[in-house]
Amino acid sequence: MTLIVDSCFDYFRPLFNIIFFLPNLRLIKPMKASRFHLATLKETPVDAEIVSHQLMLRAGLIRRIASGIYSWMPLGLRVLRKVENIVREEMNNAGGLEVLLPSCQPAELWQETGRWEQFGPELLRMKDRHQRDYCIGPTHEEVIVDIFRREFKSYKQLPVNFYQIQTKFRDEIRPRFGVMRSREFIMKDAYSFHLNQESLQKTYEVMYQAYSNIFDRFGLSYRAVKADSGSIGGSTSHEFHVLADSGEDAIAFSDKSQYAANVEMAEALPGDQIRAEPSKDMESIDTPNLHTIDDLAQGLKLDTKQCLKTLIVSGDKGGLVAFVIRGDHDLNPLKAEKLEGVATPFLLAEREQIKTMLGSDLGSIGPIGLNILTYVDHSAALVSDFVCGANSNDKHYINANWGRDCDEPTSVDIRNALDGDPSPDGEGHLKILRGIEVGHVFQLGEKYSEAMQATVLDENGKNKVTSMGCYGIGITRVVAAAIEQNNDENGILWPDSLAPFQLVICPLNYNKSDMVKQAADQLYLDCQKLGIEVLLDDRPLRPGVIFSDMELIGIPHRVVLSERGLKSEQFEYKGRRDNESQDLPLYELTDFLTKLFNPSSQSA
Ligand code: ATP
Ligand code: MG
Repeated sequence: MTLIVDSCFDYFRPLFNIIFFLPNLRLIKPMKASRFHLATLKETPVDAEIVSHQLMLRAGLIRRIASGIYSWMPLGLRVLRKVENIVREEMNNAGGLEVLLPSCQPAELWQETGRWEQFGPELLRMKDRHQRDYCIGPTHEEVIVDIFRREFKSYKQLPVNFYQIQTKFRDEIRPRFGVMRSREFIMKDAYSFHLNQESLQKTYEVMYQAYSNIFDRFGLSYRAVKADSGSIGGSTSHEFHVLADSGEDAIAFSDKSQYAANVEMAEALPGDQIRAEPSKDMESIDTPNLHTIDDLAQGLKLDTKQCLKTLIVSGDKGGLVAFVIRGDHDLNPLKAEKLEGVATPFLLAEREQIKTMLGSDLGSIGPIGLNILTYVDHSAALVSDFVCGANSNDKHYINANWGRDCDEPTSVDIRNALDGDPSPDGEGHLKILRGIEVGHVFQLGEKYSEAMQATVLDENGKNKVTSMGCYGIGITRVVAAAIEQNNDENGILWPDSLAPFQLVICPLNYNKSDMVKQAADQLYLDCQKLGIEVLLDDRPLRPGVIFSDMELIGIPHRVVLSERGLKSEQFEYKGRRDNESQDLPLYELTDFLTKLFNPSSQSA
């Protein structure tokens, strides 16, 4: 027996002689499971709705302390640090300068940009002992612009791009899905300053590339999509989405080209259809109890495509504006609110107001004889013999036709794009997938630098307001999104670059068999020498429990050492994504691990 054990160690010994170290050695400490707080849960927590939230709690990555506020446990923090390190490296490579700005921010700065009033209840406000107002930063434009205007004087100092990795607080109306939409979260936010648009465009492209590098290195499947820049302002903006069925956002992309946009932004084109000629005379019919499009289509035994719905919103001069879309389509408020005559913010008209001003209830409104500004969607303008409200309660028209029963409309794009629509760039058709927004790059322009007078002297010695870009990544959300995209019925499937440990050694009967213990301890030491982020599961638990815990927490590679295996000079290996384990000769263990964790050493 002793002889066999000795000979087993001979197989490990060459590991000592290897002089190269893996690049990530400085990052991560190896660990024995008995000394690590592995707090896995068997049961799925009842209040966790999506799989990443369930698995983050079950694997013991996070713990909830209050609504939308979480603690990161040792295992979760290892993953978080990996995300941060990749982001930090790529931001540094892209010329970013790391800073750390305060969470607690004085109200005066927010008053300068007008956001103290505009931000609403998402901004967590407080008073200090002198009754001065402060907030916990939900974002840091004001603070960085204040620093910039004090420190920077000349165009020669530009461009500059500051970034930080820091805690934000947004008092979200509905915190949910764990750290996916929490109130406290960690963001990487960067802010760049430029003398002109050309310089901003250059840095924007550098950041776009840095983001692509970051998401490539995460090993996640993602898409960069054209986005609306929303309330932050500015013009050009892209969101980076991790693709996952549970994603909150719908993104549209072409099946033939690189076109990709947030569905809200994607142009909805009707294709090259031609409208059919009218085939019947228009009639007014009684439709009591048929108030919704579905009721109407069912009652008249027609497709919802044949029924046009009319939505009424507030106009910018106090009146009303109508939008006509096909019954099976959804109005896109972002598109609609940009049209002339429409009030901002976009507001659906009140029931009473519709009744008083138009003479009937919303369910009976239609474009024929309607005397208010009316916008008709491209697809709705292609329907002939359509059904629509007759502007009189409980009455609809059937077989109505554009150009015959009312004016020919000049159609506009006001609906959400759908799967199968022609791609706006003319190549292929749109596919709709769901995504989780993990990053966002904006060209802010002069919005904040103008309000806070962030100027420099230009080449002619004149004061010039700087242009700004801003670039965010939801560090904590990335962890949840990675799990949402990579899991199976047994737990998490970490991409190698984000895993809390690269390798777990599972010795069977570690606490009972000297042979196993010695071999496992030796392998553990050797892995450390190789710079492998290794976890030795030395807990006195049944193998089944150890295996299911390790699958739950998603360690990508597992080596099992057993007395039986050692005696027959074998070890067992299983990749987390493999269906079967394999028994391999013990003398190949060194080579095997070297290849697995440092493929570049093979070609050297
Ligand atoms: P969302 O539309 O999801 O609310 P946002 O547009 O408000 O996001 P930004 O202000 O662009 O987000 O913030 C940058 C990044 O911070 C987002 O891309 C996202 O990854 C992350 N983030 C924003 N809000 C939260 C939150 N409540 N919880 C976790 N991460 C968040
Ligand atoms: Mg938000």
